[in-house]
Amino acid sequence: MSAGPSVWFSEAVLGWFDRHGRKDLPWQRDPTPYRVWVSEIMLQQTQVAVVIPYFERFVAQFPTVADLAEAPEDRLMALWSGLGYYARARNLHRAAGLIRDLHGGVFPATIEPLLALPGIGRSTAGAVLSLALDQPHPILDGNVKRVLARAFGVEGWPGQGAVLDRLWTLAERLTPANRVGAYNQGMMDLGATLCTRRAPACERCPVSERCVARRSGRQTELPTPRPRRNPPERETLMLILVDPAGEILLERRPKSGIWGGLWSLPEIAPDADPRDWCLARLGVAPARVEMIGARRHTFSHFNLDIRIALVQLDATPARVADDADRRWLNRADLASLGTPAPVKGILDHFLAGRAQPPVRAQPHGDVS
Ligand code: SF4
Repeated sequence: MSAGPSVWFSEAVLGWFDRHGRKDLPWQRDPTPYRVWVSEIMLQQTQVAVVIPYFERFVAQFPTVADLAEAPEDRLMALWSGLGYYARARNLHRAAGLIRDLHGGVFPATIEPLLALPGIGRSTAGAVLSLALDQPHPILDGNVKRVLARAFGVEGWPGQGAVLDRLWTLAERLTPANRVGAYNQGMMDLGATLCTRRAPACERCPVSERCVARRSGRQTELPTPRPRRNPPERETLMLILVDPAGEILLERRPKSGIWGGLWSLPEIAPDADPRDWCLARLGVAPARVEMIGARRHTFSHFNLDIRIALVQLDATPARVADDADRRWLNRADLASLGTPAPVKGILDHFLAGRAQPPVRAQPHGDVS
């Protein structure tokens, strides 16, 4: 593509953005690099409407990158609880620490140091620098990939390296020299509000006259979807352990792996007996063990079937005292810790006295 044809595209997007783009999102008011960075990380895999209250609570608690760097990880994870993809929060925290240690607490304003921080790829770095400082960097998030693949008829799944390279080349050539922040915001808005995954509103789109997908009626075929595979299934058994005082045992998960660093119910193998676990780990036999329900949680790469056992103790456990990674908690304390969404759902149901979803299949039998 020569420089000429790209101008019509950016002019059309900018004209549309001026009339219809979003200009009053919380991170657009006072768009510092720090605030834009937090919003961009939250917006990865999460919709704007969901992100807004999380963003507002987050920047109220941590108004600057220095505040974030000094925050205890538990406080951060509690604020992130329910937003999912928790590696994003841990990376934010690590990156804030590095900005404090390597950059004197000043948020980097050039692309290389930003790219060296955990959780910041080329598109996020470009978004931060263009939206906050109007620097001329292209972006290529999911929305922008969809718009470009459709408008210019780019075939192939964007997860493939060669397809991604083509999209980046397009993004670079189309990004204008001026008003880059407005253009990039316009591209994101276009993808989020008009050129949506299932029902693009081509009749209102500023690039529809030249859009390859619209002209060939292939809007829903582009971008080419990821080749399908059935996600693997995993099973686990979670224990709601209740001591004689009515407190519930939570454990902090290891930092790596799913739900890293969050507080969760103790887990055992789905065919293990909770009584054995109690004797081995707590030094007491439970008074009662009852299977009370099951949940399925869908991750991006597998499905997790969670069976839930209520384990009632009538003696104070001998071997488990509170420590940094294990706590007996009352109802009020439970709300203050970051817990994964399905575990929060299980606890909310339990504490409200509501039944858990029924066990769909019981290959291991009832152990009560
Ligand atoms: S014309 Fe339709 S398919 Fe093409 S970019 Fe616009 S909304 Fe998307």
